[in-house]
Amino acid sequence: MNQKNFIVRKAAVLGAGVMGAQIAAHFANAGVPVVLFDLPAKDGEANGIVVRAIDALRKLEPAPLAAGDRAALIEPANYGQHLERLAGCDLVIEAIAEKMEWKLDLYAKVAPFIAPHAIFASNTSGLSIDRLAGALPEALRARFCGVHFFNPPRYMQLVELVACGATGPRLLDDLEGFLTTTLGKSVVRALDTPNFIANRVGVFAMLAAMHHTERLALGFDVVDALTGPAIGRPKSATYRTADVVGLDTMAHVIRTMHDSLPEDPWHRYYRSPAWLTALIDKGALGQKTRAGIYRKEGRQIQVIDLATREYRASAGELDPEVAAVVRIRNPAEKFEKLRAHPSVQAQFLWAIFRDVFHYCAVHLGAIADNARDVDFAMRWGFGWSQGPFETWQAAGWQAIAQAVREDIDSGKAMAQVPLPSWVFDGRAGVHGPHGSYSASAGTDRPRSALAVYRRQLFPERVLGETQDTGITVFENDAVRMWHTGDDIAIVSLRSKMNTLGPDVVEGLLEACERAQADYRALVIWQPRPPFSVGANLAALAPAVQAKDFAGLEKAVARFQQMTSRIKYAQVPVVAAVHGMALGGGCELAMHCARAVATLESYFGLVEAGVGLIPAGGGCKEFGCK
Ligand code: NAD
Repeated sequence: MNQKNFIVRKAAVLGAGVMGAQIAAHFANAGVPVVLFDLPAKDGEANGIVVRAIDALRKLEPAPLAAGDRAALIEPANYGQHLERLAGCDLVIEAIAEKMEWKLDLYAKVAPFIAPHAIFASNTSGLSIDRLAGALPEALRARFCGVHFFNPPRYMQLVELVACGATGPRLLDDLEGFLTTTLGKSVVRALDTPNFIANRVGVFAMLAAMHHTERLALGFDVVDALTGPAIGRPKSATYRTADVVGLDTMAHVIRTMHDSLPEDPWHRYYRSPAWLTALIDKGALGQKTRAGIYRKEGRQIQVIDLATREYRASAGELDPEVAAVVRIRNPAEKFEKLRAHPSVQAQFLWAIFRDVFHYCAVHLGAIADNARDVDFAMRWGFGWSQGPFETWQAAGWQAIAQAVREDIDSGKAMAQVPLPSWVFDGRAGVHGPHGSYSASAGTDRPRSALAVYRRQLFPERVLGETQDTGITVFENDAVRMWHTGDDIAIVSLRSKMNTLGPDVVEGLLEACERAQADYRALVIWQPRPPFSVGANLAALAPAVQAKDFAGLEKAVARFQQMTSRIKYAQVPVVAAVHGMALGGGCELAMHCARAVATLESYFGLVEAGVGLIPAGGGCKEFGCK
């Protein structure tokens, strides 16, 4: 069937392990019914493995299910009894253990049951999509590709799409549309190279961190303190991330790199260190076995000590001098100081940045179409606030290039391969208004023109890209009212965490007035979450301290006037919510004609928890929507 629109009425996930069960949960979150398969259980009920996996979803943190009752959309099945159920699925995702032979065996078993119009995709972390496709009948090969979710799939934005040689022309476009609009994911197209983009760079970054951890004799907990939020990366940093992923899966990914990239200049680093193998041998596989690099003993978090291989209390902290350097706002100054600083922690940080810059520049042409794909893959797949190329560009392209070259020449870098010549062609970076550099094409590439992106007025941008910021109606320090050239006005807050202080309240009142006069509707929208964490209590504190209760009452009354004005406005006011809408922020949304919220929105009149009665008018709105 060659229909115009690709619609997923029902999906199937093969494999109810860490990833498969959570991918199924996310389909359920999006309201898509899903059949979850695994091997028939050896004892007890045949669906036992899947039933237990669905049960475990309710207990897992962070929660894979948006609400417990969503699990009802997941139908347990096993390969022994239920293969014919595949025929009713528009999309089938394979997520069994990362072993080529096991996957190929399973493909031979399921292929005859997959509907002729369905897309069949593997969630492999980096096995060759072409080799996997080889096990399929030719017709199904054209419907096959890689669809690489990241862990945890509900929360990690990235999905990498990978074509095999036979993948039909429209298939990835169709899947990209579905993943973006229905599942709320961000897609990067990767090439069929080992571990694709994010894991290739991200696992190298972890291997580089492991190498320098041992070289500089740092604790895993110290390295996690250094490689987390201090440098714009998630709290799980390096080693806690490995625990979340699963140390055995991590070792598989490293092995894939070792086995499939013999010519890579960094090949000798593609090995699991001895301490990692020892943990795996002990069955300490990370979060899924409740012990890995870290474990919890009573209330204490413990970490493996590199020297003794015993667990000890985790206590890693940043050296205050290094903390001061990483806080420097100017990236050029920060990197210069980091490189020159004598402390072991600073040397560690410079070394991991340098080796990742070096690695990305050398491999760009082979692993990605362009530098934007690498940066987005690292932001969305590993939660880095900036990708490696953006970080390099922000710190001064040529200065960093020079520093990396010096370290390669003096033998400090992990590999001696020179930086490619395009790095030194006088450029100021790889991202610019015309697109991002493609080393394989030798030119800049613009963004994807797929129809699905025409719906996104403000897609995430990489550093150096221009952003259309709309036409301002009025703005001050508290709010900006603007539009995109039509008759719908937007108001965005400018306060910290989008709190609602007196100036924001006045701004919203004015936006309401102006919207009534000149526009068809008003949307309250923030470019970045949260929607609003509520009243600006710091702004009210002086009145409380001075016991100026009349002043306080006036402020509360004004807030209530604002929410009432929104409720009774002559044009609809719509709250577009992403992230937290707490306290006054929740009340603001409650007074809007509609609140349109993304899945990851968190509403709450949290002040009730500390015994305060919400004062913005929210209490009278209960039951209204
Ligand atoms: P897992 O070990 O948690 O689960 C694997 C599942 O495969 C189990 O349910 C098991 O019953 C099933 N299985 C094992 N052998 C089988 C066989 N011979 N035939 C059929 N089923 C079999 O693994 P996981 O971490 O969920 O990984 C699944 C896939 O997702 C792998 O390809 C992995 O590379 C990929 N992946 C993992 C992560 C991650 O962070 N764990 C992230 C992205 C992608």
